[in-house]
Amino acid sequence: MTRDGLLIDCNGVCVQRLTAAGLAFEDLSHVFLTHEHIDHIAALPNFIHQSWVKGCLYRADNRRTHPLHFYGNAPTIRAVRALLDAVKLPQHPHMFPFEFHELNDAGGTLTAGSITLTYFPVNHGPTPCFGLTTDGPNRRLVYSADTEPVQAIYDHLRDGDILIHDCNKIDVEINREHTTWAQIEALLPSLPDVTIYLVHLPMLDAEQDAKFQKYMKINYAESVIVGIDQEAVTL
Ligand SMILES: [Zn+2]
Repeated sequence: MTRDGLLIDCNGVCVQRLTAAGLAFEDLSHVFLTHEHIDHIAALPNFIHQSWVKGCLYRADNRRTHPLHFYGNAPTIRAVRALLDAVKLPQHPHMFPFEFHELNDAGGTLTAGSITLTYFPVNHGPTPCFGLTTDGPNRRLVYSADTEPVQAIYDHLRDGDILIHDCNKIDVEINREHTTWAQIEALLPSLPDVTIYLVHLPMLDAEQDAKFQKYMKINYAESVIVGIDQEAVTL
């Protein structure tokens, strides 16, 4: 099952999170990268190295040989290639193959393992970036990635869907290249009846965090959720 899964962006303690979720990360075959920024690709070397240790080095009698596919726009694929070359991952003995898929900035559809995705351009300032949608049996997941609010995101939504949205500031009205909570709150009346998960949140001190959590709980209960690590959603 993990082999056919898809990882979207790769930062922080990616390997530890996938392990805690009970996933055999070393067999995963597909990684979609929304854009080239460091906080979306920086953990790739560690993810690949640990996949090699577990899937190749420690499994000499049953080595992983299936490729790891990377999907992204041209600058992202360039950055990933340079990153992996810089730490000499392709030269590791018995490393599984890497396959790079450069996507058209205008958007499109792709099938990666068990998942079919539609990707579309959003507005992350000068950095080309893709938002995504995928359909489950019961509802659709829409992910804004890093962006200012753009109508293309909301056009994909229907009642009951899940929207994962950039929310990079909570204390200003507008934050160029990202979305603020004020902008999301202003959008809510025009959106279908969806559940929204806020991600890419700013680092808040304990007092700010408690204040924001309290405000959200009182005003939005379960319709807008402040995203946390290891959150699971069924589509
Ligand atoms: Zn970014």
